[in-house]
Amino acid sequence: MIIRATRNISALLCALAATYVLGHRATITLAQQLDSQVLGDGIELFQVRPNFYVLTGAGAHVSVQVGRDGAVVVDAGDAAHADRLVTELKKLTATRPIRYVINTSVDPDHIGGNEQVSKAGRSLLNAGAGLGSGMTNDGAAAILAAEGVLLRMSAPTGATAAYATSAWPTETFAQPRKYMYLNDEGIEVLHQPAARTDGDSIVFFRRSDVVVTGDIIDFRRFPVIDIARGGSINGEIAALNRIVDLAIPSVPIISREAGTVVVPGHGRLLDQTDVAEYRDVVTIVRDRVESLRMQGKSLADVKAANPTEGFRARYGSDTGAWTTDMFVEAVFRSLAAGAPQRR
Ligand SMILES: [Zn+2]
Repeated sequence: MIIRATRNISALLCALAATYVLGHRATITLAQQLDSQVLGDGIELFQVRPNFYVLTGAGAHVSVQVGRDGAVVVDAGDAAHADRLVTELKKLTATRPIRYVINTSVDPDHIGGNEQVSKAGRSLLNAGAGLGSGMTNDGAAAILAAEGVLLRMSAPTGATAAYATSAWPTETFAQPRKYMYLNDEGIEVLHQPAARTDGDSIVFFRRSDVVVTGDIIDFRRFPVIDIARGGSINGEIAALNRIVDLAIPSVPIISREAGTVVVPGHGRLLDQTDVAEYRDVVTIVRDRVESLRMQGKSLADVKAANPTEGFRARYGSDTGAWTTDMFVEAVFRSLAAGAPQRR
């Protein structure tokens, strides 16, 4: 009994210590632990794992898994950097062809390089085996995305500019999870049906232990909820919770700064605790807006009440393409519309 009691006390002390350390995290970040290399033209290369890289500065972050089957690239950057990106990808992948480009969303900074990156690669499927040019993408790497990405890229009108057919996804999916097994690891593409838009996906590399979130996390600012394209605040929070669930922090050895690497669409590389904090911020703002709305406050009243107080300096902006007011308005309108996936 004494031994058991001692064990229980020591377990309790460990838990308390863990709570204390987590609450007072060292200021050094996971990203600072990773090797990075400045490549010029604002592009930087982070080696996240022995066979996993992140290129920043070419639009949205571009993630690259390389192995014996070739390379899997998540997001293709923006059109302006496409040629430069291809040059850097070729250096990284050497003789191994790019096999897949996976788009996490339909935004121009994620799909702008689709055509060039895909054409720099080679299809895994052999055209000589009697497969049609559609299936083999005429020999180029496949482009994979949730169905909503293709629908919006191919739509004749709409918020997104028209794209050449060679930039469109060649493989789409509508189910919650699309998976493949390449370079000796399972890769899950997890569709989030109503997060920022209706076409967002999270890509989880199970063995590398890397989660690529696209702009479900834009760590520079509040998430860009695009209601017109099927986004919702509750779907966004559900997606953030999913990412928190997929990632594992460095416990019980907290001092190690290890754990699952989370690659956001923009901003520094993250760990699970960072994601949980971002999720908490977004959830608190949602709850404040909802509380005011339930009191019968108008949108103008809600904006005036400053529901992002405490987080505005870190994630907000009074200018630019996504202001704090726009975020608050999106949250308000999303809740007023009746939102799916509350969690
Ligand atoms: Zn982006």
